[in-house]
Amino acid sequence: MENCLFCKFVSGEFKTEIVFENDDFIIIKDIAPKAKNHFLAIPKKHFKYLAEMTQEDSALVGRILKTIPTLADKLELGEGYRLVINQGDDAGQTVPHLHIHVLSGQKMEWNPA
Ligand code: 5GP
Ligand code: ZN
Repeated sequence: MENCLFCKFVSGEFKTEIVFENDDFIIIKDIAPKAKNHFLAIPKKHFKYLAEMTQEDSALVGRILKTIPTLADKLELGEGYRLVINQGDDAGQTVPHLHIHVLSGQKMEWNPA
């Protein structure tokens, strides 16, 4: 999609360090980490909301979720990790391309606000 930051990372038009890549998605480091380790898992296909997913897209997201724990060493998942998907303005979604935050490396509080 035009003018989408994450599509440009996927296509290589914008350079960024790719920590992991397969046919489904890329993983990059978040530019403004909210935990000691903060990665973003970004599907190569552009869509904004889980609500837009086709059956094929939901299989894609399932494969991404299954792959993340296989990357425990690379992502330094350590003693536990948190996955976050912000959806919409109230949740604080700022990039309109679905992505999964992967947070780890520290004890985390549970405070959605
Ligand atoms: P959201 O707020 O949409 O759930 O998450 C978007 C994330 O993308 C934020 O955590 C933000 O720090 C990150 N981000 C925004 N711009 C860039 C960028 O240019 N490079 C990287 N690596 N991360 C970015
Ligand atoms: Zn996009």
